[in-house]
Amino acid sequence: MPEIRKTKIICTLGPASDSREVIGKMISAGMDAARLNFSHGGPEEKENRLNILSAINKARDRPISIISDLKGPEIRIGTGKQDLEIKISDKINFTLNEKEIQTKKKPYTVSVNVEKFPKSGQVMVEDGLLEFEIVKSTKTRAECIAKNNGLLKHNKGVNIPQAGHTGPTFTEKDWKDIEYSVKNNVDFIAASFVRTGKDVLELKDFLNRKDVQIISKIECQEALDNLPDIVKLSDCIMVARGDLGVDIPIETLPSTQYHIVKKCNDLGKPVIVATQMLNSMIENPRPTRAEVTDVANAIYMGADCVMLSGETATGKYPVESVSMMTRIALSIEKEVRNRINRYEIKQDDIYGIVGKAVAMSADSVKADAIVSLTNRGETAKMLSRYRVQSPIYVLTPKPEVCRFLSLYWGIFAYTVPVVGNVNDITEKGVSFLEEKKKVGKGDNVVITANLPTANGGQRNIAEIRKI
Ligand code: PEP
Repeated sequence: MPEIRKTKIICTLGPASDSREVIGKMISAGMDAARLNFSHGGPEEKENRLNILSAINKARDRPISIISDLKGPEIRIGTGKQDLEIKISDKINFTLNEKEIQTKKKPYTVSVNVEKFPKSGQVMVEDGLLEFEIVKSTKTRAECIAKNNGLLKHNKGVNIPQAGHTGPTFTEKDWKDIEYSVKNNVDFIAASFVRTGKDVLELKDFLNRKDVQIISKIECQEALDNLPDIVKLSDCIMVARGDLGVDIPIETLPSTQYHIVKKCNDLGKPVIVATQMLNSMIENPRPTRAEVTDVANAIYMGADCVMLSGETATGKYPVESVSMMTRIALSIEKEVRNRINRYEIKQDDIYGIVGKAVAMSADSVKADAIVSLTNRGETAKMLSRYRVQSPIYVLTPKPEVCRFLSLYWGIFAYTVPVVGNVNDITEKGVSFLEEKKKVGKGDNVVITANLPTANGGQRNIAEIRKI
């Protein structure tokens, strides 16, 4: 059987990938989930992308998951839609008042939608690509000096670390985008600039048990301060390195990424490592050595998913970028199991204990597959974190469970009406996978199932079978 990639690949859609043809090629190259970035593009573009994905998903037995990534309370630059050439040591003014924008001659005045300027510090544009030092400021205006050369582009993101984050986490636009996303059956909402567990609960309350899950983006210091709460309350975590890398000292980003990933792995929550993973592929057909190593290290560290942003949204090589991710993942995944030995993790619930037993059995018999027959996928989630080399096929009657498991490392979920007694469901499960050519004669398979008992109890089983 061909090697099966277990790390999931998320691709941001954008002008470079707006056609059914390109999205189809990206899926063939390895895309597992599509990210719609609500910071950019209008409603027609979103609708077009959703229509393409819906048409594609109708023809698939495992759907491509859809993630709506909210704009959040982002600070953005207003240049009057001009691209401005900035030279090192140029003076420039930042103002809160859009009416004061002046781009005819230097020093330019551009706007930002921050609440107020700090007395000193940096204004970082486009994830720190352009840096300005504040030399003098009032609450509404800051005079700055450019620290490097570059192009200042309209509507690019701005970070002013010393300004802090005080306003609400979800803006009016976010609430509208959430409603739109729920109406259009997206699977995940990625919440930008989450700061506390309370933010996650606010979104949960609003979603009111709708079939959509929450990805909390960790992109500021306050979120790091409240990480245990945020991870516990969220369905998935994203290490949003673009903003995070300007909100904290950039040299601490690798160790911070490691701590976030480890926390998620320990709690059995999927974690996405995002931003600039193969950045040079926006322009070039081959990535740098450092980028390839970055993607591999993220997977080695324990990332469930790796994400492409500009590479697939606006880059020249969207399909090649996905293929490259696939190649890197396949190459490093063999090493992951050797590094991550989680058998020492304390297991305090039935799913964890069964998950551990199944993972150990699959390791021992070098299982060709693990089959998890489930309603909610709890055992499979616990199993995923052991990074067993056997693919975990989840068969569930619930399509939403199938979609929500799509971001877990090594899990491949199918909606199958597996109901009946334990013999019925294991036979049906194995036949289903035989028909799909996922398992075949002579294969070792470890099967696990969670079944209700006649008196309202719970029965968790694990079975080793040679087909
Ligand atoms: C990031 O900051 O890394 C990120 C993924 O968020 P956005 O692209 O929305 O800035």
